Amino acid sequence: ALRAGIVGLPNVGKSTLFNAVSSSAKAQASNYRFCTIDPNVGLVDVPDTRLDQLSEIVKPNKVVPTQIEIVDIAGLVKGASRGEGLGNKFLGNIREVDAIIHVVRCFEDENVLREEGEINPVSDKEIIDIELQFKDLDSVDKKIQKTQKQARVGGDAQAKFELDVLERVKAWLEQGKNVRMMGLTKEEMVAIDDLFLLTVKPTMYVANVDEASMHTGNKYSDALKKVADEEGAELVVLNNSIEAQIAEMEDPDDKALFFEEYKMAEPGLNRLIRSAYKLLNLATYFTAGVQEVRAWTIGKGWKAPQAASVIHTDFEKGFIKAEVIAFDDRIKYGTEAACREAGRLRIEGKEYIVQDGDVMHFRFNV
Ligand code: GDP
Repeated sequence: ALRAGIVGLPNVGKSTLFNAVSSSAKAQASNYRFCTIDPNVGLVDVPDTRLDQLSEIVKPNKVVPTQIEIVDIAGLVKGASRGEGLGNKFLGNIREVDAIIHVVRCFEDENVLREEGEINPVSDKEIIDIELQFKDLDSVDKKIQKTQKQARVGGDAQAKFELDVLERVKAWLEQGKNVRMMGLTKEEMVAIDDLFLLTVKPTMYVANVDEASMHTGNKYSDALKKVADEEGAELVVLNNSIEAQIAEMEDPDDKALFFEEYKMAEPGLNRLIRSAYKLLNLATYFTAGVQEVRAWTIGKGWKAPQAASVIHTDFEKGFIKAEVIAFDDRIKYGTEAACREAGRLRIEGKEYIVQDGDVMHFRFNV
């Protein structure tokens, strides 16, 4: 599964959020399946209303959502890139995630220790950004030195191209900017692929607000939203403490009352997980049989055989063709037979690019 890592300064509510996700699943009336891989890593179901719609018409024995991995990356502090705290180790953990969920404190509470003075989400965000940029600068510098030698020795055109990209990335980072905002082309990205830069990773923000602001946001989350908008990044306003409380409730009636009292339609975590899924640039297709209705995760732009391989690796090699019904048609016509009659069941071959929401049935040789 793809991984999203939770980062942020100390005491902003990262663990509270991670625990909310994990105990939500442990509670009896659980919203998600969650399986703890190690204390800071968990697999969580991705809530998807399309799965509910499909189950309603197919009435299968089992419904299986798709999952993503959530990692709690604690320990990032100011100065981490210079080795403060266990900084370097934690920065290294970020390398292994596919996307970043950056939690920022947008609540006042004098009981919650804060070392950076007045609440200031924008500067908090920048502190983390700078640490990641420093770390990236380090990686880029090292590679520049190596590449310089290659470019000199053979007059190698590829090395020269790489060197040029690296120099520009370096200059960009030195201006305090994140590489994901640089608009690099595919070819340029290849030149830095092996560096696994931290500031390239897709990033979203969680504004952790107080209870009174959970529906409206507050001046802090508004300030952060402005910055997120400039980056074209998603921002989710949450009250992590409330989410943790909801997560621990076992009785569905208690939960319903609580939702009513707080005027919530669903746990805020659903929004978070959906946004994180979107951030990972994934698409979902479904299989729908009486045994099982299931969501499968693929990358955007994947062709049918590769999409089939997430069900079973043999499916890719033995792929013959796929029967495909668009999600809306499957719901509209109710049964597969009705879709076929209406000419809405397509037979697609190896070159078909699977669309988000497709309901698929694969034919393959074993
Ligand atoms: P982390 O260091 O970022 O993982 O932060 P924690 O999740 O451990 O939270 C630090 C402290 O802030 C704990 O005492 C939490 O109970 C408290 N906290 C977390 N979220 C909120 C919130 O939304 N509002 C308030 N007032 N306190 C919170």
